[in-house]
Order: sequence, then C-alpha cells, then structure tokens
Amino acid sequence: MNLRIPGPIPVPNNILEAMAKPMINHRGPEFAELLNRVTDGLKQVFQTNNDLYIFTASGTGVMEAAIVNTLSPGDNVLSASVGVFGDRFAEIASTYGAKVEKLKFAEGKGVDPNLIRESLVKNPNIKAVLVVHNETSTGVTNPLPEIAKIVKTEFNKLLLVDGISSVGSIPVQTDFLGCDVVATASQKGWMLPPGLAFLSFSSEAWKAHKVSKMPKFYFDIANYEKYLKIGQPPFTPALSVMYSLDIALRQILDEGIENVFERHFDIAEATRNGIKNIGLELFADKSVASNTVTSVKIPDNIDAKLLMSTMRKKYNIVLAGGQKELSGKIFRIGHLGLCTHQEIEDVIESLKKSLPNCKLAS
Ligand SMILES: *Cc1c(COP(=O)(O)O)cnc(C)c1O
Repeated sequence: MNLRIPGPIPVPNNILEAMAKPMINHRGPEFAELLNRVTDGLKQVFQTNNDLYIFTASGTGVMEAAIVNTLSPGDNVLSASVGVFGDRFAEIASTYGAKVEKLKFAEGKGVDPNLIRESLVKNPNIKAVLVVHNETSTGVTNPLPEIAKIVKTEFNKLLLVDGISSVGSIPVQTDFLGCDVVATASQKGWMLPPGLAFLSFSSEAWKAHKVSKMPKFYFDIANYEKYLKIGQPPFTPALSVMYSLDIALRQILDEGIENVFERHFDIAEATRNGIKNIGLELFADKSVASNTVTSVKIPDNIDAKLLMSTMRKKYNIVLAGGQKELSGKIFRIGHLGLCTHQEIEDVIESLKKSLPNCKLAS
C-alpha cells in the first residue's frame, strides 16, 4: 500500500519494529534516560533552546495546550487562517472564551502578513496571534518568517504556531523567529505512528502562563515541567511510540536537518512537476506551495470519488480528498517523512492511467 496522505504516513520498518520492545517502568531510570534524550533531540529539530514537552495526544491536543497555557477567557487574539486547521485553532480559542478576531484568506493562498500588521495596529489589545505554518488542508506553507517579524519584532505579541505538518520537514527556526509556542505531532513528518505530540514553550509563554486563567488539567504545562525535572511524564506516556521516536530522531539528526529539508523540497518539486506534466493543475499558489503536501485541482469533468477509489483499488495508492468546502474540488498527495521518487512516479503514472476512466457522465 502506497499511503500518500498527509499523516499518518508510512513508518520505516526499523522505526516500526522499535515499538515491539517490552514495556518499562515510566517512573524508572531507563525511562528518564529516554525522556531526556528524545527531549534533547526534539529541541535540535525545533531549533530551540526553549522548554519542550511531550504529550500523549494527537496534534489537536497540543493546539489546545498552546491556547489554554497562555490565555485567559476574554483575551483578544488574532487568528490568521487559510484553511481547516487555521479555523480549528481559532475555534479552540473561542471555545475557551477568547475573543477571536478572524483574518480569513482564500483557500490556496497564503496569509498576507501586511493584513496582520493592519489588525495589530487597529486593535492594540490583541495579546496573541494564532497561525498554522503549513496548512495541510490546502497544501499551503504560510510565510512564517515575515509573520514572525511583524508579530514579534514590531508588536511583541505572543506567537502561537501550529507547526504540525511542518516541523521536521520544512525549516522552522523557532528561536530565530521568536515563536513562543510551536506544536507538532508524531504522525506527520516524524516518520512515526500517531500517539505523541510535541510543544515548545518560550519564556514569554511562561510569563503568559503565570496569569493565564483558561481551565487546564491534562494539558497544564506546569505539571509537565515539574515532572520533567525528575525525568518523568505526569501521566502514562505512549511508551511504544517513545521507543520509535528515539530511533526516528537519531535517523533525522544523522541525516542532518538541512538535508531532510532539502529532500522534502526535491520530492515536492518532483510531485508538482509530475502533476503538471499529466495536464493537471496545482491548487496552491506557486509562491506558497507546501513541501509536505501537494494539493491538486480536480478537473470539472472528473468524478473525484471514483478517481480516489480507482487509485486505491486498482493501484493500491491512497490519496487524501479535499476537506469541508474543498471536498470533491481537490485531492492531496502527502510526501512528508521518507518518500521516494519511485513512490511519487507511481502516483503520477497511476493518475495518468486512471483519469480517462473517471469521467463524469455528461
Ligand atoms: C494533522 C494536522 C492537525 C491535526 O492533527 P490531529 O493529530 O489529527 O489532531 C492540525 N494541524 C495541522 C496543520 C495538521 O496537519
């Protein structure tokens, strides 16, 4: 099976096999060693000296953690959204009582940093800006360096980043950019099964935590900090995924993160070129096209459902459809983690063969 969705992704065998190791005491010395080692490795990939915590959760869990650990009900926050996950980030904040001002951009486009500046000028009460670095639903990578420059250097607001489908695959210079909180999850570019989520937390974020009044229990970062000091998690971790994380991190750091980013760029370029070569049109603007997921327009005369099922049944290739409003309008090809040129060639070849058989009755 060629699983080409933007997470979960295929896990290399050596990493998967690490999950078969016997359980250990998560409050014992072996676990403490493992926890310290992987926390260190994660910080290298996040390019940060900030605190970093591991949660047993999916990505949405750490999006929630980013919010409840820094904000209070009634706080003004600015959400810049270009798709489903940007909207989700805003929804979590409003669920916990934040006053969310929404900047919404067209699907397939990136965030316009100038409009963030305008909103911050107009509303000086805004405390935090929420942004998704790589919007997986549309295949768009937002210009995080430009956004960070405005939010941090010009206005010194909190910057909360959903880097779930970017950290580890696309450069995220957490400290250089000044990102206060960066969230990601194991089933994306980390080459791991789902189950763990990671969050970096700056000293500014800690200041915000001190006055934050949003309710929190499982995700209260203070608890994770307290326990990390003694080499433990506050709650039982997904131990098997921790074993895998240890191997995956070693692999990523041995390859070198710059090389990992380069490899993602190469495979994304091959995907984009392949799609254009068979006469299909890319959905995301060229200037913001993601190196982890490629979104493709479904031609008007093509039955989207039939195309997805033909790819799956005839060619063993699983693609992702469009989400919400984009359902039936686009499909997406995931190429995060380890993805070979052969795998992408197979996708393109199979699409080329499938398309003529997936026409809508006219
Ligand atoms: C996958 C993803 C999420 C949600 O992650 P879950 O693990 O399904 O909760 C959020 N944001 C982005 C950008 C994602 O790619």
